[in-house]
Amino acid sequence: MATNRTFTMIKPDAFAAGNAGAITKIIEENGFTIKAMKLTKLSAERAGQFYEIHKERPFYNDLVAYMSSGSIIAMILENENAVESFRTLIGATNPAEAAEGTIRKLFATSIEANAIHGSDSDENAQIEGNFFFSDLEKF
Ligand code: GDP
Repeated sequence: MATNRTFTMIKPDAFAAGNAGAITKIIEENGFTIKAMKLTKLSAERAGQFYEIHKERPFYNDLVAYMSSGSIIAMILENENAVESFRTLIGATNPAEAAEGTIRKLFATSIEANAIHGSDSDENAQIEGNFFFSDLEKF
């Protein structure tokens, strides 16, 4: 199903470093409209659920610890071709490989602490949005 929405999280490293405002500004300057926004903190259990798809990966336990280590900001974003254009804006998973000007190039500190999440498909955008917002029909 095509959609013009995606889901993002400003991750604990970026929030703790005081970069949430700068990142949000870049998102808006690139044409994304914020439809919903929540400052929250994931428990280890919830972080594990969110990244369940990576359960078998060697970095899973570290990822869960990192994602539950501090505050995050969850957002639903709207734009044309939202999923793909947002993945382009955030850059490669590993900031060493991220293109100049991307959010990860600007703010990520490692392949794990990479500042921001972006859904990788329309289906996952919907699932991930529902994970954080139980009242999406309002937005
Ligand atoms: P994304 O779609 O670009 O976020 O990348 P993935 O879905 O492959 O991985 C999910 C998240 O796991 C990444 O954003 C990183 O925070 C973390 N991650 C991915 N690969 C590695 C890795 O090799 N080592 C560690 N420590 N974390 C990783």
